[in-house]
Amino acid sequence: MADPKTFGIAGLLGWPVAHSRSPVIHNHWLAHYGIPGRYVLFGVPPEKLEAAVRGIAVLGMRGCNVTTPHKQAIFPLLDRVDDLARRIGAVNTVVVEKDGTLTGFNNDGNGFIQSLRDADPKWRPDSGPILLLGAGGAARAVAASLAAQGAKEIRIANRTLDKAKEIAGAVGPVVHVLPWEQREEALDGIAVLANATSLGSAGKPPLEIALDRLPKNAVVGDLIYVPPETPLLETARKRGNITVNGLGLLLNQARPAFNAWFGVMPNITPELKQAIAATF
Ligand code: NAP
Repeated sequence: MADPKTFGIAGLLGWPVAHSRSPVIHNHWLAHYGIPGRYVLFGVPPEKLEAAVRGIAVLGMRGCNVTTPHKQAIFPLLDRVDDLARRIGAVNTVVVEKDGTLTGFNNDGNGFIQSLRDADPKWRPDSGPILLLGAGGAARAVAASLAAQGAKEIRIANRTLDKAKEIAGAVGPVVHVLPWEQREEALDGIAVLANATSLGSAGKPPLEIALDRLPKNAVVGDLIYVPPETPLLETARKRGNITVNGLGLLLNQARPAFNAWFGVMPNITPELKQAIAATF
């Protein structure tokens, strides 16, 4: 691994990558903590992933984030992948170890959980049933991380039932699978409602769900952050629920990555949130 006193480089491998807010976050922290370094975007097409990953340690980088379409494809190119990332089936962070080997992690689910805690400090993963809408990569990360942090009941409703069943198979019996049509009944008695579908994001149709059965003290999280307040979050906020958007996930997954690369556990400050808000 590179000498920690030298200029440190980390970045994002994806295709495309231009939309990412990660440079704003990591470069803000580098400046704030006076650490010499830079976080850069690397647009890497799928056929070049292997060459790019081989270059991470050779070029003296501290590590990288990984996004679509490389989160699964990177597995065989790493020296080791931690247990949670294995259960999730995707890597979002790579760390170059002291000996130059590469370890893969996935901080997305834990980042989302931390954002719920930040929004409602009384909430714990075992506070009550959680209804997760969606069964794509993000939902799987959230479900596996919730189970690892002690959640007792995770209800997953998804349009394609088989994908929800796959998550249940990977995560275990705390996951209860429900047809998409039963998402409103599934609101009964929950402590958290989490939208991990793409419905409600800019350019997509809204998520259709009547919230009458949602307990008033449930926290509502949406993994989407463009727009900053989805129709789901707006409706939930107006009826009195605590809400949190996907920026909380993005910021909280970045903290342990920055710590692993640059040796400082950074804070999420109002200035950082302002710097991100300025990009919308
Ligand atoms: P994905 O793997 O493509 O999954 C998309 C999910 O949305 C699937 O469950 C899909 O259901 C569902 N869906 C799409 N259109 C639908 C429709 N018309 N009706 C019902 N369900 C529909 O995507 P992902 O990577 O998991 O990401 C999901 C969302 O989380 C995206 O909006 C993404 O931007 C966001 N996200 C945010 C962060 C962050 O940093 N905040 C990180 C990761 C993801 P089917 O299985 O039936 O297709």
